[in-house]
Amino acid sequence: MLDIKVTRAAQGKPLPDPDTLMFGKLFTDHMFLMDYHTGQGWHDPRIVPYGPLSLEPSCMVFHYAQEVFEGLKAYRTPEGRVQLFRPLENARRLNSSCDRLCIPQIPEEDFVQAVKALVQVDRNWVPAKKGTSLYIRPFVFATDPSLGVHASHSYLFAIICSPVGAYYPEGINPVKIYVEDEDVRAVRGGTGHTKCGGNYAASIRAGERAEEQGYSQVLWLDGVHRKYIEEVGAMNVLFKVDGTVITPALTGSVLPGITRKSCLELLRDWGVPVEERLITAQELFNAADAGKLEEAWGSGTAAVVSPIGELAMGDKKVIINGGKIGHLTQQLYDTLTGIQWGTEPDPYGWTVPIE
Ligand SMILES: *Cc1c(COP(=O)(O)O)cnc(C)c1O
Repeated sequence: MLDIKVTRAAQGKPLPDPDTLMFGKLFTDHMFLMDYHTGQGWHDPRIVPYGPLSLEPSCMVFHYAQEVFEGLKAYRTPEGRVQLFRPLENARRLNSSCDRLCIPQIPEEDFVQAVKALVQVDRNWVPAKKGTSLYIRPFVFATDPSLGVHASHSYLFAIICSPVGAYYPEGINPVKIYVEDEDVRAVRGGTGHTKCGGNYAASIRAGERAEEQGYSQVLWLDGVHRKYIEEVGAMNVLFKVDGTVITPALTGSVLPGITRKSCLELLRDWGVPVEERLITAQELFNAADAGKLEEAWGSGTAAVVSPIGELAMGDKKVIINGGKIGHLTQQLYDTLTGIQWGTEPDPYGWTVPIE
């Protein structure tokens, strides 16, 4: 158990209008901080008013990107309760990311306690309007004031929270994506299976180019053979082909998404055949030609599911399910959002209440 010291903001900021919320632009009144120093371990857990951090220009994270993060949400139920979705999974994944980047791990129960304590302090910030939520961003970074390339001896673990608007205020519109054939996001043996800022830095260019060409995001190929699909933008990707759901196996360059895992668990429970394996882009286009590419969607905490209506590779283009969201995609969306916002029962024990 952490002994968290709470220092409340003298005056809270006005709560935002729930109709105008965007993603990650506004932050709540408080943040959680905890320090690490070699020899001392993690210490001084505290909740303090949200505000700027003071760091030396030599701070190691600025130069060598020794940093990892997480993303999860707190949801308000119709009864006004506040709950988290599978936070222990985020704690585990953070530690697996830490392990790869030589960052000291944080005990799982301490991570969950810190998230709960901060959401409890800022619980008024969890919006109630349909589809809105409080996005929670835990992150850990190297703070040694040093340019030597080695693991830092000091770190900061921080958690900030941002009220976010509904992802689909105008209903779910399937997106257009294309197969990226130039940049790669990750390679096996690298950091693709971790949530580290560096992966995002490497992926921004392809995302910008996709937008310029009228696409929402790119479908990433593996970095070695350049033929196996891995993820879509910063989401995992799943396809329904001839009645079976297929998704890239977690081979080391794919991020193990909690939404992906939840989709697979639901599908198996519903008796839908599921395969986690290598999938070439060509296989998908062949399936489309044969009329068997039935549904496609990305999965992630922000959108839950994001249906793919059009897929392009070179000068080939296929429209999936007439450009509309598929049945199974909709069913996954309804079930997951129902559990998260507490409008449906949670037979899996995925939700964790904030007292
Ligand atoms: C966070 C993330 C995902 C989705 O993970 P969830 O746990 O479902 O939110 C997928 N791919 C990448 C690259 C990510 O960073």
